[in-house]
Amino acid sequence: MLADSQGLRSVDVHFFSSLYEVLRKGELVEFKPSIRQGIGVVYELFGIEVPEEKIRVYHERGLMEVAREVSFPSCAVCGTTCLHIALKCPRCFSRNIEKRELMIHYDCGHTGSIEEFAQTSPGIYRCPKCGKEMKRVGIDYGRPGLGFVCGDCKMVFQIPVIEVECENGHVNRIQQLEVKKYPVYRLSEEAKKLSQVFDAVETIAQRLKALGLDAATFARVRGVSGITYNVPIYVKGDQPLVIEIAPEKIADELYPIIMSLKAADIPNSMMIIVLPSSFRPELEMIFNPEKIRVIKVEEIRESVDRIVNEIARIIGAAGHADH
Ligand SMILES: [Zn+2]
Ligand SMILES: [Zn+2]
Ligand SMILES: [Zn+2]
Repeated sequence: MLADSQGLRSVDVHFFSSLYEVLRKGELVEFKPSIRQGIGVVYELFGIEVPEEKIRVYHERGLMEVAREVSFPSCAVCGTTCLHIALKCPRCFSRNIEKRELMIHYDCGHTGSIEEFAQTSPGIYRCPKCGKEMKRVGIDYGRPGLGFVCGDCKMVFQIPVIEVECENGHVNRIQQLEVKKYPVYRLSEEAKKLSQVFDAVETIAQRLKALGLDAATFARVRGVSGITYNVPIYVKGDQPLVIEIAPEKIADELYPIIMSLKAADIPNSMMIIVLPSSFRPELEMIFNPEKIRVIKVEEIRESVDRIVNEIARIIGAAGHADH
């Protein structure tokens, strides 16, 4: 359990830091499913491969949305998407078949690989079945191209039996296969907003940890209403701290309302919001000072010291120092 949450945590850091870079460059990102043999469906997350369940957690957290869906064939017996094709002899169903260039003697009808026909002089062959000489291509003999020769029953054929085997050994005819749909994801607006403050969030959280506080970044916190929130910095304690950092672009009229609802919904918590100094004071009126404290800064990245000191002071005032 611990190992798993630690694993998710490092994926989180990788995700948000890569996101920050990608969005800064203005790149459009999609996360497409693919099949990894032995694992199943995986997604590439900025250069690392993660199982489908992990990316689904990001979707549940509101960090990704479904752009469209794609289907993968799956075993009709066990449902796995780890499949491979088996080519078999249509007569004895052996998998011991070889691909060969074929030759046919029209007189006796014998078909075999070109190596079976001894070449007596350039362009002239001897049929291994009837022993006759074959002189003229298209008249005495034909070269129909590539085909297969069964290593067990020696049958020559052009189209093998095609079956699909799963990693658990179940054999499916192509028409029997099931299909499973998987989403292609893209980043949500929420993820784009969070990524803008990613580096500030990480730096501030590190500083809070150095003060002995139990600070987690991009934590999932469930509200009384049942809604799960993304909390940029969450400090555990008797009165948990929800630290929000407002990117300049989204500090609009709606922002204080959303934050007030969030603060009211997360049980026993105190919210600290870091706002840009340009944020209009009349929009702050909605904040309940019992529940929400505001720190206003000119530029987040240059104000880390001040933000950390203010947070420490607020916690101290609330009786949560030396945790
Ligand atoms: Zn199967
Ligand atoms: Zn012949
Ligand atoms: Zn065979």
